[in-house]
Amino acid sequence: MHSSVSSHIKGFGAVSYARKNIPVLFDADVCVTGGGPSGMAAAVQSAEHGARTVLIERGIALGGLQTLGNVIPCMTSFAPDSDTPFVKTLKERLSAEGIEFDDRTEGSEVSIWTNPEILSRIYDDMCEKSGVEVLYNAVFVDTVMEGKSISAVIVQTMAGLRAIKSRVFIDGTGDAVLARSAGVPCECGYEKTGRNQPMSFRFEIGGIDMERLYDYITNELKDPWCKSPLPHFTMAEARHRAVKYVLEDFMAKGIETGELTEADAEYMQGFAIVGKPGTMSMNCPELPAEYSASDPLSYSRGVREGRRMIHRITQYFINHMPGFENAYIAKEASMLGARESWRIRGKVYLTEDDYHNESRFPDAVARTAWFIDAHGEKISEKLPKGAYYEIPFRAMVADEAENLIVSGRCISASFILQASMRIQVTCMSIGEAAGIAAAWSVRNDIPANEVDWSKIPADVRSYVSE
Ligand SMILES: Cc1cc2nc3c(=O)[nH]c(=O)nc-3n(C[C@H](O)[C@H](O)[C@H](O)COP(=O)(O)OP(=O)(O)OC[C@H]3O[C@@H](n4cnc5c(N)ncnc54)[C@H](O)[C@@H]3O)c2cc1C
Repeated sequence: MHSSVSSHIKGFGAVSYARKNIPVLFDADVCVTGGGPSGMAAAVQSAEHGARTVLIERGIALGGLQTLGNVIPCMTSFAPDSDTPFVKTLKERLSAEGIEFDDRTEGSEVSIWTNPEILSRIYDDMCEKSGVEVLYNAVFVDTVMEGKSISAVIVQTMAGLRAIKSRVFIDGTGDAVLARSAGVPCECGYEKTGRNQPMSFRFEIGGIDMERLYDYITNELKDPWCKSPLPHFTMAEARHRAVKYVLEDFMAKGIETGELTEADAEYMQGFAIVGKPGTMSMNCPELPAEYSASDPLSYSRGVREGRRMIHRITQYFINHMPGFENAYIAKEASMLGARESWRIRGKVYLTEDDYHNESRFPDAVARTAWFIDAHGEKISEKLPKGAYYEIPFRAMVADEAENLIVSGRCISASFILQASMRIQVTCMSIGEAAGIAAAWSVRNDIPANEVDWSKIPADVRSYVSE
């Protein structure tokens, strides 16, 4: 049984910040900021490897885009044997809850079907069992630095500002918020356009007659894309891709009649949610690219525009798509779907060449082969079957912050490469390594940014390069 961080607090004390004394809430070994798939995996692995671990999350559910952003399902990495221990455990946990993997669809792009409410309960349980102290409704605000070392982070809680001291920090915010605050250089958006990938405001539609919808799409429209049988049914169209989708005509009719805008019809995807009969998770609307994931005002206007789009799209489906006659908006995501924002410049910088050259690294923490999917900019060919590239630990650390490890979609990678490595299973594998390396750094008194992943005993590592 692991003991929690709070039982180890030696006295609260205070940290001096902005000419105020900020009470210290925890004094931990490892502090993870952001409880998305990568931060969650990092926290659990850190605690399971013996570090007193605290996880700070601004929402009230773990899972990040998986749960708060309604992003289901987890896509496959396409890389053979890429599942790291956390990913394997998650698959087992979901399977035990009846959220079965779709093993009937040849060539499926989906690795794990999820259900946001079940997933966030499983994550609570995993944190509790491994001894991770989770601080919900707590927003990371700033770092307190001593030279190149972070001595504490300042967090906004309902009780006011609080400090968390720790020996190692992990940035799992997706937006490199902690890394930027600690002085790590970052890139943002595509170097050719200056724009971030477009965001989506995902939502759920309930009250769907799924049998009727399935019959219409597969038997009447004979849409070859929608091939997975119920309960794993999916439907899609994307006008920015070279491939012509059957449902493009359905969406285009809405533009002709004035029921939809061009932007509403740009990208539409829906996934049945296992365990929520009659409900689909909509991977849309995709906001026009001028709404920015890195500009607070633009982001906020994007929320308003996205909400209008959700209502138009749902009404159009109710009016015209068989099976949707009694449908309704069941849930809105509580965070916009930002595919990409800031990415650190770490010790190693991954680029598109690493994808095409199938790069290998001695300090690799994960392998993946998900294709490059930079919406509106670039879609790559899939790598040949069995091919993959690796992600090195050195892409997760930077010279500028000694005791910081970065995990998830904001590691050191170009805009184009990030469009491949950002899928959830890969982010979880990266997070696992961040947690293990952080605990290793604490135990061996090595600066986190100098940990040599290849020197950690193989049986301790979550991934070992062949
Ligand atoms: C629209 C969309 C569709 C996608 N579709 C798929 C898909 O079908 N399959 C797939 O595998 N992947 C998909 N992805 C990609 C995948 O979901 C993300 O890349 C992945 O979730 C990134 O994980 P992460 O842990 O790095 O960050 P996130 O999931 O973004 O999690 C970051 C966490 O940090 C928290 N946080 C942020 N700032 C702070 C702060 N200051 N203080 C405290 N907490 C903070 C957030 O609340 C959140 O919980 C999609 C992404 C988007 C946006």
